[in-house]
Amino acid sequence: MKAAVVNGFNQELEIKEVPIPELAYGEILVKIKACGVCHTDLHAANGDWPVKPKLPLIPGHEGVGIIEKVAEGVTSLKVGDRVGIPWLYSACGECEYCLTGRETLCPDQLNAGYSIDGGYAEYCKAPANYVVKVPEGLDFAEVSPIFCAGVTTYKALKVSEAKPGDWVAIYGIGGLGHVALQYAKAMGFNVIAVDIQDDKLELAKELGADITVNGLKNDPAQDIFDKVGGVQAAISVAVTQKAFEQAYSSVKRGGTLVVVGLPNADLPIPIFNTVLNGVTVKGSIVGTRKDLQEAVEFAAQGKVRTNIETQPLDNINEVLHRLEKGQINGRVVLTME
Ligand code: NAD
Ligand code: ZN
Ligand code: ZN
Repeated sequence: MKAAVVNGFNQELEIKEVPIPELAYGEILVKIKACGVCHTDLHAANGDWPVKPKLPLIPGHEGVGIIEKVAEGVTSLKVGDRVGIPWLYSACGECEYCLTGRETLCPDQLNAGYSIDGGYAEYCKAPANYVVKVPEGLDFAEVSPIFCAGVTTYKALKVSEAKPGDWVAIYGIGGLGHVALQYAKAMGFNVIAVDIQDDKLELAKELGADITVNGLKNDPAQDIFDKVGGVQAAISVAVTQKAFEQAYSSVKRGGTLVVVGLPNADLPIPIFNTVLNGVTVKGSIVGTRKDLQEAVEFAAQGKVRTNIETQPLDNINEVLHRLEKGQINGRVVLTME
């Protein structure tokens, strides 16, 4: 099968023929139709994070397609079913986190396109118990980004504990941010979209943001306090430390900063203000299978739509260069035919 392979960090991915994965007990083989390109894939290819991916690596954790084969022990799915393979590729099912509905914290998890091969390929295998179904009628390319960008931001909004009617700020209107703001609207929040590029902010307006702020032209935290008195929750999905600092500063008393973007940086936080203002800072990592089912349902009901550009797998290097330079509005989705 054809796949895009990371052979070493900071190198071009190699498009090459590799064997179709062999199935073990309980696994399924998915013929991948589409796979979104997440900024995480760029971090993986560059070895940006303290925990490194396996090498060589087939990236991709928004792979969706049709089941072509099922191994012994698979009872919940059959050949022909439509599914997606998310970042949470598998978890142990037995630890305190798995047992308490917090499987994304499982210390023994595997991650698609990071610790195990993912969806930048014609086929990808996965344990049947951890894939999530794609409802009939949803286009594969359009639904693909829901499998990471969608579920991640939906979950971040949930853990922010903001209530309908509250103001929420989304910092970074890229692949994650452009769906984050739509989940936020659908959940009944008022939304401020912050980015440093006007074309991203135009998209945010089209998708329903109530207020947009260009963080290069204005001080976004000051602007947010002037306009709405601060936000109950700020979700930072940008890839620069500056955005996290500004997101922190835009939270009002009793509010929450949810940390989602993953620049390899520290977040210095003023202790005095955090204490006196009763501010919560929370990390949030993707979402559980249940969160993903819910996130997909929002898309199925037309409450969230992805702004996608499709590209053939062969163009992956050009796509990653553009992603690095901030030249993608929404999400690029690789298509396999
Ligand atoms: P992206 O490149 O598509 O989007 C980033 C956006 O941030 C761009 O629109 C960019 O213009 C904007 N930006 C840059 N500087 C900014 C600033 N100072 N203020 C406001 N906006 C700014 O990336 P993406 O695919 O959306 O991923 C974003 C980050 O989230 C990555 O670090 C990725 O690894 C991480 N991520 C985390 C999780 C998780 O579970 N926590 C899941 C998926 C992705
Ligand atoms: Zn992702
Ligand atoms: Zn576990």
